[in-house]
Amino acid sequence: MQKPIVVRFAWEIIWSIFVQISTMGFLEEIKRRRTFGIISHPDAGKTTLTEKLLLFGGAIQEAGAVKSNKIKKTATSDFMEIERQRGISVATSVLAFVYKDKKINILDTPGHKDFAEDTFRTLTAVDSVIVVIDVAKGVEEQTEKLVEVCRRRNIPMIVFINKLDREGKDAFDLLDEVEQKLGLTVTPLSLPIGMGYDFKGIYNLWERNIQLFQDEQKQTIGKKITFEQVDDPELEAAIGSARLNTLKEELELVEGVYPPFDQSAYLEGKLQPVLFGSALNNFGVEELLNCFIDIAPEPLPKTSEERLIQPEEKQFSGFVFKIHANMDPNHRDRLAFVKIVSGTFERNTPYLHVRHNKKLKFSSPNAFFAEKKEIVDVSYPGDIVGLHDTGNFKIGDTLTHQEKIQFQGIPSFSPEHFRYINNADPMKAKQLNKGIDQLMDEGVAQLFTLHLNNRKVIGTVGALQFEVIQYRLLHEYGAHCSYENLNVHKACWVRCKEENHPEFLEFKRVKQKFLANDKQGQLVFLADSAFSLQMTQQKYPAVEFFFTSEF
Ligand code: GDP
Repeated sequence: MQKPIVVRFAWEIIWSIFVQISTMGFLEEIKRRRTFGIISHPDAGKTTLTEKLLLFGGAIQEAGAVKSNKIKKTATSDFMEIERQRGISVATSVLAFVYKDKKINILDTPGHKDFAEDTFRTLTAVDSVIVVIDVAKGVEEQTEKLVEVCRRRNIPMIVFINKLDREGKDAFDLLDEVEQKLGLTVTPLSLPIGMGYDFKGIYNLWERNIQLFQDEQKQTIGKKITFEQVDDPELEAAIGSARLNTLKEELELVEGVYPPFDQSAYLEGKLQPVLFGSALNNFGVEELLNCFIDIAPEPLPKTSEERLIQPEEKQFSGFVFKIHANMDPNHRDRLAFVKIVSGTFERNTPYLHVRHNKKLKFSSPNAFFAEKKEIVDVSYPGDIVGLHDTGNFKIGDTLTHQEKIQFQGIPSFSPEHFRYINNADPMKAKQLNKGIDQLMDEGVAQLFTLHLNNRKVIGTVGALQFEVIQYRLLHEYGAHCSYENLNVHKACWVRCKEENHPEFLEFKRVKQKFLANDKQGQLVFLADSAFSLQMTQQKYPAVEFFFTSEF
């Protein structure tokens, strides 16, 4: 029987209000998320800063709770140490906390250069970054490389100059160095008052106040006195007239020389604000966090090969940016880290694994909170979920509600270390192949098959990976491998716009010995020296050479 029209009408109104409320909730959840990474050269203070951010967020109660996931150089021959440290890095892969009602997700980026590829891939999942620089050391090598990647992707960056409690470079010299070496356009949002032994506090241009730190107590949040204006007579009494005059001059310099802060320029990656502080002493950390939540972007849209995906879209989509093998060798399961791009990800709901064209359901997706992980029912754009995986995923895979899209932009970089990989136990050929296959999907290294003789070559960014691979093949797959040296300087992807171009044909004939296919079947040139690479490039101008797989 038809319901009376009034009842139907009332129902429709109630339903539309319900839909509106739930949509509002969804949009608000997106708006409150900030997903970012901290990048630095090892030892600049990334771990310390992360920990202090968690401390301010109330996610941990005491310093020392977050373990560094640094892979120490001495660990090269200590497999257990590598494993132990890898375990720690699972726990610290994503550190989430709530601060002033914002849900903050910090994605961990390994500082060790042998694991730089992990960091590059993680940078595909962040919406912004904080770059930490040591005031005494200035811009270091690893910072340059990582910032270069962020710059190319126009990722918004805030620079934090750390360790102001120590003697270091002059603030303005450092700003120059950051501009020149990193190719950034900076504008200071705070200025240090004194430095090292003489460090008194911070002039905060963002909040327009001056904070003097009275408390030398480390590891806890120090007491602050706040002045609203430089002309406050008590400020002069506190820091002395000489220092006050210097501060006034510096403020004039800032106004005269640096562009005013412009949030849209920052969001477009064209302007980078700089703040000063000392993570260890909690100087400037709260200011950094307050500034960060004011200016840092909400979850951003992401390009897929088919179209741009907006976070506000109702239907779920996300991509795998990291795969971590589990620590238990009896269960060969892995944790795939998925960044949610749009819609809500719900537990026990079938989603499309686009590459395999099959639906998968996840009964225990992990969410990350401070240094714990727990099962979660619903996650929103900007969040990271950890999915248990028995070998279905590889880095770069897309998961969706049902649409067939493929997210772009998880590059592989030219490896620089190469070895032949051989099977040392003929009875375990199957295990070895499966192991190699899965480790490559995790992005531990890259596999090339030589055209000449079909031999398999492993290429890595750092030397440490060879040991990790050998150890893991044995412990997780029961397979033995041995390595053989191979003289290769660099691998680069090659392409020619015209398949039958005479130059391309000649290149392939002459260089056959140095050609291989990567795992996706793309053509790769393994140059034996920088010189031969250069000569080859000059000799065959019609052939294009690429140093990342993303071209
Ligand atoms: P990471 O390699 O970038 O993660 O660096 P860590 O956070 O592990 O810091 C490296 C070293 O610098 C540690 O000994 C820290 O205690 C120290 N450190 C970090 N921040 C500061 C700071 O603000 N002042 C001083 N003096 N030392 C710091």
